Amino acid sequence: MLCPLSQEENEDIDHLLFQCNYATRIWGKLLQWLGIAKQVLDWKAEVEWAVANAKGKTSQQEVYRMALVGGVYHIWKERNARVFDTRQRTTDHVVR
Ligand SMILES: [Zn+2]
Repeated sequence: MLCPLSQEENEDIDHLLFQCNYATRIWGKLLQWLGIAKQVLDWKAEVEWAVANAKGKTSQQEVYRMALVGGVYHIWKERNARVFDTRQRTTDHVVR
């Protein structure tokens, strides 16, 4: 049940994808790259923020949605690599 990314807390959706130190570093870098000044929230609040702020057709909104989906995918992929393949990547590698 321990988070395979940080080994610090129990693994649940909020911790693994948004509250984990590893995930927070990834989101921080992505948000900085996107030029968005906001804190990393929990899963429900992140979805609400995206619906309120990124459901339009502007290029910035579309890129944000891709970054959100890509971030979730790659954090989950990194989690699985650590659990099943015992491989580890740095947050810089995951962001790239
Ligand atoms: Zn963690």
